[in-house]
Amino acid sequence: MPSATSLDVTAIRKDFPILAQQVHGEPLIYLDNAATSQKPKCVIEALTRFYQMDNANIHRGVHQLSERSTQSYEAARGKVQRFLNAANSREIIFVRGATEGINLVAQTYGRTHVSAGDEIVISAMEHHSNIVPWQMLCEEKGAVLRVIPINDRGELEFDQFEKLLNHRTRLVAVSHVSNALGTINPVREIVNTAHSWNVPVLIDGAQAVPHMKVDVRNLDCDFYVFSSHKVFGPTGIGVLYGREQLLEDMPPYQGGGDMISSVTFEKTTYNDLPYKFEAGTPNIAGVIGLGAAIDYLDQIGMDAVAAHEHDLLEYGTRALESISGLRLIGTAREKAGVLSFVIDGVHPHDAGTILDREGVAVRAGHHCAQPVMDRFGVSATTRASLAFYNTREDIDALVAGIQKVKEVFTV
Ligand code: PMP
Repeated sequence: MPSATSLDVTAIRKDFPILAQQVHGEPLIYLDNAATSQKPKCVIEALTRFYQMDNANIHRGVHQLSERSTQSYEAARGKVQRFLNAANSREIIFVRGATEGINLVAQTYGRTHVSAGDEIVISAMEHHSNIVPWQMLCEEKGAVLRVIPINDRGELEFDQFEKLLNHRTRLVAVSHVSNALGTINPVREIVNTAHSWNVPVLIDGAQAVPHMKVDVRNLDCDFYVFSSHKVFGPTGIGVLYGREQLLEDMPPYQGGGDMISSVTFEKTTYNDLPYKFEAGTPNIAGVIGLGAAIDYLDQIGMDAVAAHEHDLLEYGTRALESISGLRLIGTAREKAGVLSFVIDGVHPHDAGTILDREGVAVRAGHHCAQPVMDRFGVSATTRASLAFYNTREDIDALVAGIQKVKEVFTV
């Protein structure tokens, strides 16, 4: 049955050459988008064009190619700024990915603002990337990590969050959307509540940006991170948005070229934003590829993406709920992109392997969110995760594959 929404997915799929292949003699059904998403031709072409025509280092050359590559690099920063509705392109820092963005904030803002006995608040549904950097900081400073619990649906317990905040809280760091559960967190309310204590908020948007319109000014958040490779751009590049005043006051993250304005052996002065945080030759091609991905998404429209995926998620949820012996992990009322499940008597890795033989690519494991697995009393789940190029037929193939799994294990 075709999707009930208006997105022309048949045309869209033609933009993604990788999807038109067979694996194990079956058409590829790619449902591992939360791990990484596929790239449209325009992104692949932007990378090729850069290396064929414009490749040169940025910001320091006087020649044509360097001017062109600098111009494309900085144009991409402007695209990200508009995509996130940030007030200024100085607030857009290019990093390796969401992980590096969080580490940057922990090592700069965190190390200057957190002391012994202070507290950092995260949630029980965070990716390891939004746990470990804070744990490392707390260990170094003698600070305390406080964790907002989640209920059986996989939703944050907001009243518990409110109780965790106090005059020792220095930062709140939460995911916008959980990669393991799909829960969409009420980040606007989280920011409001934290700000009433004058506590800044970092939002891990790795799983939100591919699925919905994100407006950092509307969210009023202080930091927002995401990875290009989950948003149809290249790997090895990502974005840290930071409120200008906070970034101004933060010390640099790494030292090196491009982040300085003058160096002597006695004293170095640092460059202005955003360059203060971009030491060394960056991933120029990656940034340009990310810019191409944003252009592509702008054309499709994030509202259309969200509506299509919402339809798929509802369709998939209904289908999986009707399979006996299958338990969905993560049934939040507000959800995006993720169908995580366990089947009685079947190890999630075995389910993943059998699905692969049917051409269905899913992920099996703890999804870098071991505390979430502990919370639900499982060691792993099988996770199907969606993108706008998926169809109801993809969900039907997943369901047929799960029936195969059950036959193999005669569940
Ligand atoms: N946070 C979340 C919610 C994620 O899903 C991921 C990637 N799985 C990350 C952070 C880390 O992203 P990256 O590995 O691209 O830095």
